[in-house]
Amino acid sequence: MTAVPTATCAGPLARVSGCDTQVPLVGGGSCTYANFDYAASAPALAQVTDRLQELLPFYASVHRGAGYASRVSTDAYESARGSVERFVGTDTDQVVVFTRNTTDSLNLLATCVPGDVVVLDIEHHANLLPWKNSRIVEAADTVVDTVARIENELAAAPAALLAVTGASNVTGEVLPIAELTEIAHRHGARILVDGAQLTPHRRVHLAETGVDYLAFSGHKLYAPFGAGVLVGRRDWLDAAEPYLAGGGAVREVTLDETVWAQAPARHEAGSPNVLGVAALAAACDALAALDFEQVVEHERVLASRLADGLAEIDGVHLLRLWADAPDTVGIVTFTIDGHEPGQIAAYLSAEHGIGVRDGRFCAHPVLNRIGLAGGAVRASLGLGTGSEDVERLIAAVRQLADGRATWNYGKTDGLWNPVPETRGFSTGTAGAAECV
Ligand code: PLP
Repeated sequence: MTAVPTATCAGPLARVSGCDTQVPLVGGGSCTYANFDYAASAPALAQVTDRLQELLPFYASVHRGAGYASRVSTDAYESARGSVERFVGTDTDQVVVFTRNTTDSLNLLATCVPGDVVVLDIEHHANLLPWKNSRIVEAADTVVDTVARIENELAAAPAALLAVTGASNVTGEVLPIAELTEIAHRHGARILVDGAQLTPHRRVHLAETGVDYLAFSGHKLYAPFGAGVLVGRRDWLDAAEPYLAGGGAVREVTLDETVWAQAPARHEAGSPNVLGVAALAAACDALAALDFEQVVEHERVLASRLADGLAEIDGVHLLRLWADAPDTVGIVTFTIDGHEPGQIAAYLSAEHGIGVRDGRFCAHPVLNRIGLAGGAVRASLGLGTGSEDVERLIAAVRQLADGRATWNYGKTDGLWNPVPETRGFSTGTAGAAECV
């Protein structure tokens, strides 16, 4: 039975889906897709698609059936909490709540926070918009000064929570989470780490660092099947109103009274996404088994080569938020003089089969503040990226910057496209072309 696509291929560090996918080129022919958009959504790990193949024949209701398949599905769902706990090293009073994605996790936590929330202005909208009583701190030019500004804000007035990203989705730069945790706690606040960009690339250990809450998304963690996680201290989660009201979140219902369950069930009303959760758990298990020093080194080498290669090209400017970020995950963000980011992305796709992200990355306030209201181009990489992909991207950018694009591009309804567009958007397999 083939229910879930299993076509994975060997990337440098792991088998992932899509690394030998052929895509059509605008001039005719096709080439292997070079995926530089891991930060938006990463391809599936082989362990994830294998797990879904195994589970699908037993797919059935969760928590609601005595049939064997229901028991298997329920077990897959509940045991997934253990995989997440091991992956992020939870403390004893922390509970794993399954959600749809990071956005959902942060919106859930926002309903539970008993006080003000301090946030940086560099955050993804998912970590800016949900907070009801937010106090926004403008990031400084250095991490050191940014940390000092956060501390000043926490000292100025009591806050319940510091909500901060583990790694910027704009530049990949990492914040000193252990230090921020210590500062938040010293000022009587808890800390939430938005782990959407950090958890796929760096080990996170909640008990060791003291981080109170962590949110992340399966689809950025090589498990693109619609599940996310909020992990964190039980007391706020138990005290809050249920995130969704409905079946599964209750202990007893009469027409006059409802006795709600405690977390996690309290916040997981409705039939859960068992396949997404099982996929997420498989990704956690697979990543936990990897040698992360090797992962970090692999990404560091590729990202450095990409940054250096791009920086050498006339007219290319790399984007950094801080001069002293202690670490950066595999993201390189840039602009090219004389070219709109959307045009660059359309060109890379149409002429070179390269996928990048352009725009303001759901971080409008910081892009506007640093003078990039027109956006930038973000190239992000991961377990399936090889050095040949990096060389292709550098060569393609050089060609554009040198004025050697071979096609025309135009903007319709705000979107850049090749003119004329000759590619159908089906899977292209015809005639291989040299990818540069
Ligand atoms: N936080 C960060 C840092 C992100 O990069 C993203 C998505 O790009 C999100 C939150 C939101 O994640 P999701 O769209 O999976 O909810």
